[in-house]
Amino acid sequence: MEFDTVLRNANTIDKQGIISKKVNIYIKDGEIVRVDDSLSGNISAKEVIDCSNLFVTPGFVNLHTHSPMNVFKGIAEDVDIDSWFNKEIWPYESKLTEDDAYYGSLLAILEMLDNGVTAFADHYFYAEKIASAVLETGIRGDIAITLFGVKESFEEDLEKATQLIKEKNKLNSRLSFRLGPHAPYTCPPKTLEKVVNSAKTLSVGIHIHMAETEKQVKDSLRDYGKTHFEILHEAHGFDLPVIVAHGIYIQEGDLKYIGNNTYFALVPKTYMKLGMGFPSIFKYRKELKLAIGTDGAASSNTLNPLEEARLFALLGKLQDNATEFTLFDVWKTLMEGHNALNFKTGDIAQGYKADLIFWNLNKPNTFPLHNPLASIIYSGDAQNIVHVMVDGVFLKKDGKLLFDSSKIFKEANSHIKNLLNRGKGRTNLSF
Ligand SMILES: [Zn+2]
Repeated sequence: MEFDTVLRNANTIDKQGIISKKVNIYIKDGEIVRVDDSLSGNISAKEVIDCSNLFVTPGFVNLHTHSPMNVFKGIAEDVDIDSWFNKEIWPYESKLTEDDAYYGSLLAILEMLDNGVTAFADHYFYAEKIASAVLETGIRGDIAITLFGVKESFEEDLEKATQLIKEKNKLNSRLSFRLGPHAPYTCPPKTLEKVVNSAKTLSVGIHIHMAETEKQVKDSLRDYGKTHFEILHEAHGFDLPVIVAHGIYIQEGDLKYIGNNTYFALVPKTYMKLGMGFPSIFKYRKELKLAIGTDGAASSNTLNPLEEARLFALLGKLQDNATEFTLFDVWKTLMEGHNALNFKTGDIAQGYKADLIFWNLNKPNTFPLHNPLASIIYSGDAQNIVHVMVDGVFLKKDGKLLFDSSKIFKEANSHIKNLLNRGKGRTNLSF
């Protein structure tokens, strides 16, 4: 067999955090087809890369973001969560065009690739534009089409989302879709049930914001006598694959509703920045599948799962004690997002897609290398990520993204300027 790429003598860290030395990885048609520790016989490959000075790991998954929101980065600082939503972000979002969303998404993808993200789960309007950005750049994307049950156009929006999924789902192995009911507080139970039924018919999952603040839990109990989790359970939502964005104020009584295919995307930077308190979900971390997201850049300013994972560990240790939230726990949480998506990624083993990060840890910020996992989790950043590969293709090489970023920045800039000139619109949603 002629391989496309052979990675020779790599130091690898697998999904469990186990380190191996002198590993050869053979890649063909975007897939890892063989892994061994000795090159034997005549190996025929288009490209052989010596990785003896590098660590190779699975790519990172950003399990919750709103990629178009990169156009809002830095626009709403030092405000509380209520002002953030209602006075700053939603008024501008109401005037966002599909082209603004497209360029925002491209900016987000550049940043994510630079940070080692090989797949992301998005939740936004203009799903078709985000899908174009995914296909053009080479990253993997799972796109949830945002739906608001309280909107007058809900039925029409659900129908459009259904059509889009029927037409586009599985057209490309790097792209998948799901339905994105925004949250139980913006999708009353009847509409949530309709979304769940449509997802079942389409054989896709859902991606939904839940129990993001203590106030949301109290409001839900006041309005429905039920928590968000109970509401989704009654809509039979947990029969489906579910990505829960946040869910950080889950109650003990909610644990019984959680399905086998439910993953929580945690975004500690947003919780800390918006002063959202200590998440109660940390208490239940051993019973739930916790993964890492970034939220949109308007609240977290970066789309960097490694930074979020580091804050997850630090916040956990601060809340609990220093011996908890170990390096292996944090690495497992970083890798968990792969299991939530349907891409067969997330390990260095035969049959997995070749979505990989190549680390140079011989840099001032990570040297000496007593413990490579600690170097990555507590010291590493994008400067250590020399190459990023998705589907067997390098999208970052020798520390540089293989795109014409300046062209994207220029186009994005003119769209952002126009957006700000149009000013804030009125929103008819309140939270
Ligand atoms: Zn969100």
